[in-house]
Amino acid sequence: SHVWLNGAVLPAEAAKISVFDRGFLFGDGIYEVMVRLQGRFFYGEAHWERLERNLEKIGIAYSVSLLRQNVSDLAQVAGLLDQDVLLYIQVSRGTAPRQHAFPKDITPTAFMYLLPFSLPDVNTKRMEVSVLPDQRWERCDIKMTSLLGNVMAKDSAVTGGAHEAVLVRNGKITEGSHSNVFFVKDGELFTHPKNRFILDGITRDITLELAGSLGIPVREEAVAQIDISQMDEAFLTGTSTQIAAIGRMGTHTFFEGSEIGPITQRLQQAFLALKNQ
Ligand code: PLP
Repeated sequence: SHVWLNGAVLPAEAAKISVFDRGFLFGDGIYEVMVRLQGRFFYGEAHWERLERNLEKIGIAYSVSLLRQNVSDLAQVAGLLDQDVLLYIQVSRGTAPRQHAFPKDITPTAFMYLLPFSLPDVNTKRMEVSVLPDQRWERCDIKMTSLLGNVMAKDSAVTGGAHEAVLVRNGKITEGSHSNVFFVKDGELFTHPKNRFILDGITRDITLELAGSLGIPVREEAVAQIDISQMDEAFLTGTSTQIAAIGRMGTHTFFEGSEIGPITQRLQQAFLALKNQ
């Protein structure tokens, strides 16, 4: 399989990065993930803009337009022009002798790869999620490659037999380890506000838009852990998760068997219609 590294398309085995790359040493980099469905990137513009915004947030000067222009070259060489794919992009600050402060005149390391990838029409999986402390730092809005807080939470959830971890900071549910979290209560949708404690998920935004068009009232307010059992429905959102119903969260069971809540179902159908548009 082929990857794109700093302007060249190479076999993955031939793509080399220095051990002094700050992405490797410090997790000093930004990443992005998007999917191309039936020939077009789904909300591609929003993903490219988020990548650009995140690079700006951490002071990496890199033009994403070079990446954008090179995706089709990569797809062609990788033999993936005609399939649905997942695109992973990473830009690290670059390679320099190890020191914490940002080195002057450093050239970013830019990397992307494509994977054949198919999404189900609707994610019919009912997620079982663990509720765990959010041990990450206070800039969860930055889509950075240092994901230790996220991977430790996810691993703990998986080890406990769950599909995903939902995280709690100061008694409130923030988000999942790689997804955003929504609740439904009395016909209203609740999700954590966009701030430093969550990633501004593109699928979260899409879901809020769909709710608006379906006339479902939305409150961007965090739900307290102690109120989980008062909620009627809950679901996760994410680029590859799409909209996934939560069957159980911690000790609370929302639905038994394969049942999915009515508002979750409406949003899933609206999301499907949007993909097929
Ligand atoms: N929250 C976190 C921590 C994530 O890593 C992700 C995506 O990977 C999301 C939320 C969902 O974001 P998006 O819908 O843009 O994929």
